[in-house]
Amino acid sequence: MLIRVENNEELLNAWRKYPALQQPTYPDLDALASVAADLRTRPPLVFAGEVDRLTKDLAAASRGEAFVLTGGDCAETFAQSNADRIRAKVQTILQMAIVMSYGASTPIVKIGRIAGQYAKPRSADLETRGDEVLPSYRGDGVNSFEFTLEGRTPDPQRLLELYQRSASSLNLIRAFTRGGYADLRQVHHWNQGFTDNPAYKQYEAMAVELDRALRFMEAVGVDGENMRFVDFYSAHESLLLEYETAMTRTDSGSGKLYNTSAHYLWIGERTRDPQGAHVQQAASVQNPIGVKIGPTTTVDQIKELASILNPEAIPGRLSLITRMGASKLADKLPALVAAVQSEGIPVLWITDPMHGNTITSSSGYKTRNFGDIMQEVHDFFGVLQAEGAIPGGVHVELTGDDVTEVVGGAEELSEEALANRYETLVDPRLNHQQSLELAFATAQILRE
Ligand code: PEP
Ligand code: MN
Repeated sequence: MLIRVENNEELLNAWRKYPALQQPTYPDLDALASVAADLRTRPPLVFAGEVDRLTKDLAAASRGEAFVLTGGDCAETFAQSNADRIRAKVQTILQMAIVMSYGASTPIVKIGRIAGQYAKPRSADLETRGDEVLPSYRGDGVNSFEFTLEGRTPDPQRLLELYQRSASSLNLIRAFTRGGYADLRQVHHWNQGFTDNPAYKQYEAMAVELDRALRFMEAVGVDGENMRFVDFYSAHESLLLEYETAMTRTDSGSGKLYNTSAHYLWIGERTRDPQGAHVQQAASVQNPIGVKIGPTTTVDQIKELASILNPEAIPGRLSLITRMGASKLADKLPALVAAVQSEGIPVLWITDPMHGNTITSSSGYKTRNFGDIMQEVHDFFGVLQAEGAIPGGVHVELTGDDVTEVVGGAEELSEEALANRYETLVDPRLNHQQSLELAFATAQILRE
Protein backbone atom coordinates (compact mmCIF):
# COMPACT_ATOMS: atom_id res chain seq x y z
CA MET A 1 0.00 0.00 0.00
CA LEU A 2 2.69 2.44 1.05
CA ILE A 3 4.81 1.61 -2.00
CA ARG A 4 1.87 2.25 -4.26
CA VAL A 5 1.33 5.71 -2.78
CA GLU A 6 5.03 6.55 -3.11
CA ASN A 7 4.97 5.46 -6.73
CA ASN A 8 1.93 7.61 -7.30
CA GLU A 9 3.67 10.62 -5.70
CA GLU A 10 6.47 10.15 -8.18
CA LEU A 11 4.10 9.69 -11.08
CA LEU A 12 2.08 12.72 -10.00
CA ASN A 13 5.14 14.94 -10.13
CA ALA A 14 6.90 13.40 -13.13
CA TRP A 15 5.85 16.34 -15.37
CA ARG A 16 8.11 18.68 -13.39
CA LYS A 17 11.14 17.46 -15.36
CA TYR A 18 9.60 18.69 -18.63
CA PRO A 19 9.22 22.22 -20.02
CA ALA A 20 5.92 23.80 -18.95
CA LEU A 21 4.56 26.42 -21.35
CA GLN A 22 1.84 28.98 -20.64
CA GLN A 23 2.22 28.99 -16.85
CA PRO A 24 1.56 32.16 -14.85
CA THR A 25 4.62 33.91 -13.40
CA TYR A 26 3.64 34.11 -9.74
CA PRO A 27 5.57 36.72 -7.79
CA ASP A 28 5.43 34.67 -4.57
CA LEU A 29 6.15 30.95 -4.93
CA ASP A 30 5.65 30.27 -1.21
CA ALA A 31 2.11 31.60 -1.50
CA LEU A 32 1.56 29.26 -4.47
CA ALA A 33 2.88 26.30 -2.49
CA SER A 34 0.57 26.97 0.43
CA VAL A 35 -2.45 27.28 -1.89
CA ALA A 36 -1.50 23.98 -3.52
CA ALA A 37 -1.22 22.35 -0.08
CA ASP A 38 -4.66 23.69 0.80
CA LEU A 39 -6.16 22.42 -2.49
CA ARG A 40 -4.81 18.95 -1.80
CA THR A 41 -7.01 18.78 1.31
CA ARG A 42 -10.21 19.80 -0.51
CA PRO A 43 -12.82 17.24 -1.50
CA PRO A 44 -12.71 15.93 -5.07
CA LEU A 45 -15.08 17.58 -7.55
CA VAL A 46 -15.70 14.43 -9.58
CA PHE A 47 -15.37 10.72 -8.83
CA ALA A 48 -13.45 7.88 -10.41
CA GLY A 49 -16.63 5.94 -11.21
CA GLU A 50 -18.09 8.87 -13.14
CA VAL A 51 -14.82 9.36 -15.01
CA ASP A 52 -14.70 5.68 -16.00
CA ARG A 53 -18.30 5.83 -17.19
CA LEU A 54 -17.39 8.77 -19.43
CA THR A 55 -14.46 6.83 -20.89
CA LYS A 56 -16.91 4.06 -21.80
CA ASP A 57 -19.33 6.57 -23.34
CA LEU A 58 -16.47 8.04 -25.39
CA ALA A 59 -15.43 4.57 -26.49
CA ALA A 60 -18.99 4.07 -27.77
CA ALA A 61 -18.70 7.34 -29.69
CA SER A 62 -15.42 6.18 -31.23
CA ARG A 63 -17.30 3.13 -32.58
CA GLY A 64 -20.09 5.30 -33.99
CA GLU A 65 -22.59 4.17 -31.34
CA ALA A 66 -22.93 7.65 -29.82
CA PHE A 67 -21.90 11.21 -30.63
CA VAL A 68 -20.17 13.71 -28.34
CA LEU A 69 -21.33 17.27 -27.81
CA THR A 70 -18.96 19.54 -25.89
CA GLY A 71 -19.96 23.16 -25.38
CA GLY A 72 -19.47 26.16 -23.18
CA ASP A 73 -17.61 29.41 -22.77
CA CYS A 74 -14.16 30.05 -24.13
CA ALA A 75 -13.38 31.29 -20.63
CA GLU A 76 -15.74 31.21 -17.69
CA THR A 77 -15.55 34.23 -15.39
CA PHE A 78 -16.12 34.38 -11.66
CA ALA A 79 -18.63 37.22 -12.11
CA GLN A 80 -20.78 35.16 -14.44
CA SER A 81 -20.68 31.82 -12.67
CA ASN A 82 -24.14 32.57 -11.30
CA ALA A 83 -27.24 30.38 -11.36
CA ASP A 84 -28.93 32.09 -14.33
CA ARG A 85 -25.93 31.88 -16.62
CA ILE A 86 -25.13 28.31 -15.67
CA ARG A 87 -28.74 27.21 -16.16
CA ALA A 88 -28.90 28.90 -19.57
CA LYS A 89 -25.70 27.18 -20.69
CA VAL A 90 -26.65 23.73 -19.43
CA GLN A 91 -30.12 24.10 -20.91
CA THR A 92 -28.65 25.11 -24.28
CA ILE A 93 -26.41 22.04 -24.32
CA LEU A 94 -29.32 19.79 -23.32
CA GLN A 95 -31.53 21.32 -26.01
CA MET A 96 -28.81 20.78 -28.61
CA ALA A 97 -28.38 17.20 -27.42
CA ILE A 98 -32.09 16.50 -27.80
CA VAL A 99 -32.13 18.03 -31.26
CA MET A 100 -29.19 15.87 -32.25
CA SER A 101 -30.31 12.62 -30.66
CA TYR A 102 -33.86 13.00 -31.93
CA GLY A 103 -32.75 14.12 -35.38
CA ALA A 104 -30.09 11.47 -35.85
CA SER A 105 -31.40 8.71 -33.56
CA THR A 106 -28.15 8.45 -31.70
CA PRO A 107 -27.23 8.87 -28.01
CA ILE A 108 -25.41 12.13 -27.30
CA VAL A 109 -22.60 12.27 -24.73
CA LYS A 110 -22.99 15.68 -23.08
CA ILE A 111 -19.92 17.54 -21.85
CA GLY A 112 -19.77 21.15 -20.65
CA ARG A 113 -16.78 23.47 -20.92
CA ILE A 114 -17.92 24.47 -17.48
CA ALA A 115 -17.16 24.27 -13.77
CA GLY A 116 -13.41 24.81 -14.20
CA GLN A 117 -12.74 26.57 -17.53
CA TYR A 118 -11.00 29.54 -15.92
CA ALA A 119 -7.52 29.59 -17.48
CA LYS A 120 -6.40 30.59 -20.96
CA PRO A 121 -3.24 30.14 -23.01
CA ARG A 122 -2.25 33.43 -24.64
CA SER A 123 -0.30 34.18 -27.79
CA ALA A 124 1.60 37.00 -26.04
CA ASP A 125 2.77 37.21 -22.43
CA LEU A 126 2.26 40.96 -22.41
CA GLU A 127 -0.48 43.30 -23.54
CA THR A 128 0.16 46.87 -24.59
CA ARG A 129 -2.42 49.65 -24.29
CA GLY A 130 -1.16 53.09 -25.22
CA ASP A 131 2.23 53.24 -23.56
CA GLU A 132 1.35 50.86 -20.77
CA VAL A 133 2.57 47.24 -20.93
CA LEU A 134 1.13 44.68 -18.51
CA PRO A 135 0.87 40.89 -18.28
CA SER A 136 -1.86 39.43 -20.52
CA TYR A 137 -5.14 38.31 -18.99
CA ARG A 138 -4.89 34.53 -18.51
CA GLY A 139 -8.36 33.83 -17.16
CA ASP A 140 -10.00 34.55 -13.81
CA GLY A 141 -8.20 31.57 -12.30
CA VAL A 142 -4.92 33.44 -12.80
CA ASN A 143 -5.41 37.22 -12.86
CA SER A 144 -7.99 39.91 -13.42
CA PHE A 145 -9.13 41.30 -16.76
CA GLU A 146 -8.78 44.79 -15.27
CA PHE A 147 -5.85 46.53 -16.95
CA THR A 148 -3.88 47.55 -13.85
CA LEU A 149 -0.62 46.19 -12.52
CA GLU A 150 -2.35 44.81 -9.45
CA GLY A 151 -5.15 43.24 -11.48
CA ARG A 152 -2.87 41.62 -14.03
CA THR A 153 -0.37 40.20 -11.53
CA PRO A 154 -1.04 36.45 -11.16
CA ASP A 155 -2.45 35.68 -7.71
CA PRO A 156 -2.43 32.06 -6.44
CA GLN A 157 -5.41 32.79 -4.15
CA ARG A 158 -7.46 32.79 -7.35
CA LEU A 159 -6.89 29.03 -7.59
CA LEU A 160 -8.93 28.63 -4.42
CA GLU A 161 -11.73 30.68 -5.89
CA LEU A 162 -11.46 28.63 -9.09
CA TYR A 163 -11.99 25.51 -6.98
CA GLN A 164 -14.88 27.06 -5.04
CA ARG A 165 -16.65 28.34 -8.17
CA SER A 166 -16.19 24.99 -9.89
CA ALA A 167 -17.65 23.19 -6.87
CA SER A 168 -20.73 25.39 -6.65
CA SER A 169 -21.30 25.25 -10.42
CA LEU A 170 -21.08 21.47 -10.40
CA ASN A 171 -23.44 21.28 -7.47
CA LEU A 172 -26.03 23.26 -9.42
CA ILE A 173 -25.46 21.19 -12.57
CA ARG A 174 -25.92 17.97 -10.62
CA ALA A 175 -29.17 19.34 -9.19
CA PHE A 176 -30.41 20.39 -12.65
CA THR A 177 -29.56 17.14 -14.34
CA ARG A 178 -30.44 14.68 -11.57
CA GLY A 179 -33.24 16.52 -9.81
CA GLY A 180 -35.99 16.34 -12.45
CA TYR A 181 -35.33 19.67 -14.18
CA ALA A 182 -33.86 17.92 -17.20
CA ASP A 183 -36.87 15.58 -17.50
CA LEU A 184 -37.48 14.98 -21.21
CA ARG A 185 -41.08 16.02 -20.65
CA GLN A 186 -39.85 19.54 -19.85
CA VAL A 187 -38.13 19.96 -23.19
CA HIS A 188 -41.02 21.82 -24.69
CA HIS A 189 -41.04 24.42 -21.93
CA TRP A 190 -37.44 25.27 -22.59
CA ASN A 191 -38.24 26.94 -25.89
CA GLN A 192 -38.50 30.49 -24.72
CA GLY A 193 -37.49 32.16 -27.92
CA PHE A 194 -39.79 33.78 -30.42
CA THR A 195 -40.81 31.19 -32.93
CA ASP A 196 -40.27 33.56 -35.83
CA ASN A 197 -36.59 32.74 -35.45
CA PRO A 198 -35.92 29.77 -37.77
CA ALA A 199 -34.01 27.74 -35.16
CA TYR A 200 -36.71 28.29 -32.52
CA LYS A 201 -39.43 27.46 -35.01
CA GLN A 202 -37.71 24.21 -35.89
CA TYR A 203 -37.23 23.46 -32.19
CA GLU A 204 -40.92 24.10 -31.51
CA ALA A 205 -41.93 21.67 -34.27
CA MET A 206 -39.57 19.03 -32.90
CA ALA A 207 -40.84 19.53 -29.35
CA VAL A 208 -44.43 18.93 -30.50
CA GLU A 209 -43.40 15.65 -32.12
CA LEU A 210 -41.35 14.65 -29.13
CA ASP A 211 -44.26 15.36 -26.75
CA ARG A 212 -46.45 13.08 -28.80
CA ALA A 213 -43.84 10.32 -28.76
CA LEU A 214 -43.41 10.67 -24.99
CA ARG A 215 -47.17 10.54 -24.39
CA PHE A 216 -47.29 7.40 -26.47
CA MET A 217 -44.51 5.83 -24.41
CA GLU A 218 -46.25 6.76 -21.18
CA ALA A 219 -49.51 5.33 -22.48
CA VAL A 220 -47.90 1.99 -23.16
CA GLY A 221 -46.16 2.04 -19.81
CA VAL A 222 -42.58 2.92 -20.76
CA ASP A 223 -41.31 5.26 -18.08
CA GLY A 224 -37.59 4.78 -17.81
CA GLU A 225 -35.15 6.63 -15.58
CA ASN A 226 -33.44 7.77 -18.75
CA MET A 227 -36.25 10.21 -19.33
CA ARG A 228 -35.77 11.93 -16.00
CA PHE A 229 -32.01 12.04 -15.53
CA VAL A 230 -29.20 12.96 -17.82
CA ASP A 231 -25.48 12.34 -17.47
CA PHE A 232 -23.66 15.61 -17.87
CA TYR A 233 -19.88 15.74 -17.65
CA SER A 234 -17.54 18.62 -16.89
CA ALA A 235 -14.43 19.55 -18.87
CA HIS A 236 -11.80 22.23 -19.10
CA GLU A 237 -8.38 22.81 -20.59
CA SER A 238 -5.75 21.19 -18.41
CA LEU A 239 -3.49 24.23 -18.33
CA LEU A 240 -2.57 25.26 -14.79
CA LEU A 241 -0.31 22.41 -13.81
CA GLU A 242 -0.13 23.21 -10.09
CA TYR A 243 -3.92 23.23 -9.84
CA GLU A 244 -4.41 20.04 -11.85
CA THR A 245 -1.73 18.27 -9.85
CA ALA A 246 -3.19 19.37 -6.50
CA MET A 247 -6.60 18.04 -7.61
CA THR A 248 -5.19 14.68 -8.68
CA ARG A 249 -5.81 11.90 -6.16
CA THR A 250 -5.28 8.19 -5.74
CA ASP A 251 -8.56 6.32 -6.16
CA SER A 252 -9.03 4.06 -3.16
CA GLY A 253 -10.63 1.36 -5.33
CA SER A 254 -8.12 0.97 -8.15
CA GLY A 255 -5.09 2.64 -6.55
CA LYS A 256 -4.76 4.72 -9.72
CA LEU A 257 -4.50 8.49 -10.16
CA TYR A 258 -7.54 10.49 -11.22
CA ASN A 259 -7.67 14.20 -11.87
CA THR A 260 -10.72 15.07 -9.76
CA SER A 261 -11.03 18.66 -11.06
CA ALA A 262 -13.19 17.54 -14.03
CA HIS A 263 -14.32 14.41 -15.82
CA TYR A 264 -12.62 15.28 -19.10
CA LEU A 265 -9.47 17.34 -19.64
CA TRP A 266 -8.08 18.60 -22.88
CA ILE A 267 -4.65 19.86 -23.83
CA GLY A 268 -4.55 22.94 -26.05
CA GLU A 269 -2.92 23.38 -29.42
CA ARG A 270 -0.16 25.47 -27.81
CA THR A 271 0.80 23.00 -25.08
CA ARG A 272 0.48 19.68 -26.88
CA ASP A 273 4.21 18.99 -27.32
CA PRO A 274 4.57 15.28 -26.46
CA GLN A 275 7.76 16.10 -24.55
CA GLY A 276 6.14 18.98 -22.69
CA ALA A 277 4.80 19.04 -19.14
CA HIS A 278 1.09 19.13 -20.06
CA VAL A 279 1.15 15.89 -21.99
CA GLN A 280 3.28 14.22 -19.32
CA GLN A 281 0.91 15.37 -16.57
CA ALA A 282 -2.11 14.06 -18.45
CA ALA A 283 -0.32 10.74 -19.00
CA SER A 284 -0.33 10.16 -15.23
CA VAL A 285 -4.12 10.18 -14.80
CA GLN A 286 -6.95 7.86 -15.81
CA ASN A 287 -9.36 10.54 -17.11
CA PRO A 288 -10.20 10.64 -20.78
CA ILE A 289 -7.91 13.19 -22.46
CA GLY A 290 -8.45 15.31 -25.54
CA VAL A 291 -5.66 16.90 -27.54
CA LYS A 292 -6.38 19.85 -29.82
CA ILE A 293 -4.67 19.47 -33.17
CA GLY A 294 -4.20 22.35 -35.58
CA PRO A 295 -3.09 22.42 -39.22
CA THR A 296 0.63 22.01 -38.46
CA THR A 297 0.18 18.68 -36.65
CA THR A 298 2.25 15.81 -38.03
CA VAL A 299 1.65 12.07 -38.16
CA ASP A 300 4.72 11.50 -35.96
CA GLN A 301 3.36 13.84 -33.30
CA ILE A 302 0.07 11.95 -33.23
CA LYS A 303 1.87 8.62 -32.92
CA GLU A 304 3.99 9.94 -30.08
CA LEU A 305 0.99 11.48 -28.32
CA ALA A 306 -0.87 8.18 -28.57
CA SER A 307 2.05 6.18 -27.25
CA ILE A 308 2.46 8.50 -24.24
CA LEU A 309 -1.19 9.19 -23.49
CA ASN A 310 -2.69 5.83 -24.36
CA PRO A 311 0.00 3.13 -24.21
CA GLU A 312 -2.60 0.50 -23.35
CA ALA A 313 -4.76 1.51 -26.32
CA ILE A 314 -7.88 1.94 -24.19
CA PRO A 315 -10.84 2.97 -26.38
CA GLY A 316 -12.26 6.34 -25.30
CA ARG A 317 -9.12 7.40 -23.46
CA LEU A 318 -7.72 9.66 -26.20
CA SER A 319 -9.65 12.07 -28.37
CA LEU A 320 -8.09 14.15 -31.09
CA ILE A 321 -9.93 17.45 -31.39
CA THR A 322 -9.24 18.90 -34.83
CA ARG A 323 -9.23 22.70 -35.14
CA MET A 324 -7.78 23.34 -38.54
CA GLY A 325 -9.93 26.12 -39.95
CA ALA A 326 -12.53 25.73 -42.69
CA SER A 327 -10.04 26.64 -45.41
CA LYS A 328 -7.40 24.11 -44.31
CA LEU A 329 -9.16 21.05 -42.93
CA ALA A 330 -9.89 19.28 -46.21
CA ASP A 331 -6.23 19.67 -47.17
CA LYS A 332 -4.56 18.78 -43.84
CA LEU A 333 -6.76 16.22 -42.12
CA PRO A 334 -6.93 13.29 -44.60
CA ALA A 335 -3.25 12.28 -44.20
CA LEU A 336 -3.54 12.30 -40.40
CA VAL A 337 -6.69 10.20 -40.39
CA ALA A 338 -5.26 7.78 -42.93
CA ALA A 339 -2.15 7.25 -40.78
CA VAL A 340 -4.16 6.72 -37.60
CA GLN A 341 -6.34 4.22 -39.46
CA SER A 342 -3.45 2.27 -40.92
CA GLU A 343 -1.59 2.16 -37.58
CA GLY A 344 -4.77 1.04 -35.83
CA ILE A 345 -4.42 3.77 -33.16
CA PRO A 346 -7.65 3.94 -31.14
CA VAL A 347 -8.81 7.56 -31.11
CA LEU A 348 -12.06 9.40 -30.92
CA TRP A 349 -12.22 12.14 -33.59
CA ILE A 350 -13.91 15.37 -32.52
CA THR A 351 -14.19 18.61 -34.49
CA ASP A 352 -13.66 22.01 -32.91
CA PRO A 353 -14.87 24.24 -35.75
CA MET A 354 -14.28 27.42 -33.75
CA HIS A 355 -10.57 27.95 -33.11
CA GLY A 356 -9.30 27.78 -36.69
CA ASN A 357 -11.91 30.28 -37.84
CA THR A 358 -11.29 33.35 -35.72
CA ILE A 359 -11.18 36.63 -37.66
CA THR A 360 -11.20 40.32 -36.83
CA SER A 361 -14.21 42.28 -38.06
CA SER A 362 -13.76 45.61 -39.81
CA SER A 363 -15.06 47.21 -36.61
CA GLY A 364 -12.23 45.53 -34.66
CA TYR A 365 -14.13 42.73 -32.91
CA LYS A 366 -12.67 39.24 -32.68
CA THR A 367 -15.39 37.17 -34.34
CA ARG A 368 -16.19 34.03 -36.31
CA ASN A 369 -18.45 33.43 -39.24
CA PHE A 370 -21.25 30.90 -38.71
CA GLY A 371 -20.83 29.77 -42.32
CA ASP A 372 -17.14 28.93 -41.76
CA ILE A 373 -18.02 27.02 -38.60
CA MET A 374 -20.59 24.87 -40.40
CA GLN A 375 -18.24 24.42 -43.35
CA GLU A 376 -15.59 22.98 -41.05
CA VAL A 377 -18.10 20.61 -39.41
CA HIS A 378 -19.26 19.51 -42.84
CA ASP A 379 -15.73 18.91 -44.15
CA PHE A 380 -14.76 17.08 -40.96
CA PHE A 381 -17.52 14.52 -41.56
CA GLY A 382 -16.56 14.27 -45.21
CA VAL A 383 -12.88 13.59 -44.52
CA LEU A 384 -13.48 11.08 -41.74
CA GLN A 385 -16.01 9.16 -43.77
CA ALA A 386 -13.84 9.16 -46.88
CA GLU A 387 -11.03 7.61 -44.84
CA GLY A 388 -13.32 4.98 -43.35
CA ALA A 389 -13.09 6.54 -39.87
CA ILE A 390 -15.80 7.64 -37.45
CA PRO A 391 -16.66 11.33 -36.89
CA GLY A 392 -17.27 11.20 -33.15
CA GLY A 393 -18.26 14.62 -31.89
CA VAL A 394 -18.29 18.41 -31.95
CA HIS A 395 -16.68 20.82 -29.50
CA VAL A 396 -17.96 24.40 -29.63
CA GLU A 397 -17.84 27.67 -27.74
CA LEU A 398 -21.33 28.80 -26.85
CA THR A 399 -23.43 30.60 -24.33
CA GLY A 400 -27.09 30.32 -23.40
CA ASP A 401 -27.60 34.03 -23.81
CA ASP A 402 -28.44 36.20 -26.80
CA VAL A 403 -24.98 37.65 -27.22
CA THR A 404 -23.72 39.05 -30.52
CA GLU A 405 -20.25 37.62 -30.98
CA VAL A 406 -20.40 35.32 -34.03
CA VAL A 407 -21.56 36.78 -37.37
CA GLY A 408 -24.01 35.01 -39.69
CA GLY A 409 -26.50 32.28 -38.96
CA ALA A 410 -30.21 32.26 -39.77
CA GLU A 411 -30.67 35.74 -38.32
CA GLU A 412 -27.71 36.94 -40.38
CA LEU A 413 -26.00 38.71 -37.54
CA SER A 414 -23.98 41.49 -39.16
CA GLU A 415 -20.60 42.96 -38.30
CA GLU A 416 -22.39 46.14 -37.23
CA ALA A 417 -24.53 44.14 -34.79
CA LEU A 418 -21.47 42.76 -32.95
CA ALA A 419 -21.41 45.91 -30.80
CA ASN A 420 -24.93 45.25 -29.46
CA ARG A 421 -24.04 42.60 -26.93
CA TYR A 422 -20.42 41.54 -27.17
CA GLU A 423 -19.52 40.14 -23.75
CA THR A 424 -16.78 37.55 -24.11
CA LEU A 425 -13.40 38.38 -22.59
CA VAL A 426 -11.55 36.01 -24.90
CA ASP A 427 -13.10 34.17 -27.90
CA PRO A 428 -16.49 34.79 -29.58
CA ARG A 429 -19.27 32.28 -28.76
CA LEU A 430 -22.33 31.02 -30.56
CA ASN A 431 -25.42 32.55 -28.99
CA HIS A 432 -28.43 30.46 -27.98
CA GLN A 433 -30.15 30.41 -31.34
CA GLN A 434 -26.92 29.88 -33.30
CA SER A 435 -26.21 26.91 -31.01
CA LEU A 436 -29.58 25.35 -31.81
CA GLU A 437 -29.01 26.03 -35.49
CA LEU A 438 -25.67 24.24 -35.35
CA ALA A 439 -27.35 21.31 -33.60
CA PHE A 440 -30.05 21.00 -36.29
CA ALA A 441 -27.48 21.25 -39.08
CA THR A 442 -25.18 18.71 -37.42
CA ALA A 443 -28.08 16.31 -36.86
CA GLN A 444 -28.83 16.58 -40.57
CA ILE A 445 -25.22 15.70 -41.46
CA LEU A 446 -25.24 12.83 -38.93
CA ARG A 447 -28.38 11.40 -40.48
CA GLU A 448 -27.04 11.46 -44.03
C1 PEP B 1 -9.80 26.87 -26.42
O1 PEP B 1 -10.36 25.76 -26.52
O2 PEP B 1 -10.34 27.86 -25.88
C2 PEP B 1 -8.46 27.03 -27.02
C3 PEP B 1 -7.60 27.95 -26.59
O3 PEP B 1 -8.25 26.19 -28.03
P1 PEP B 1 -6.91 25.85 -28.86
O4 PEP B 1 -5.94 25.33 -27.86
O5 PEP B 1 -7.39 24.81 -29.82
O6 PEP B 1 -6.48 27.11 -29.52
MN1 MN C 1 -11.37 29.71 -27.06
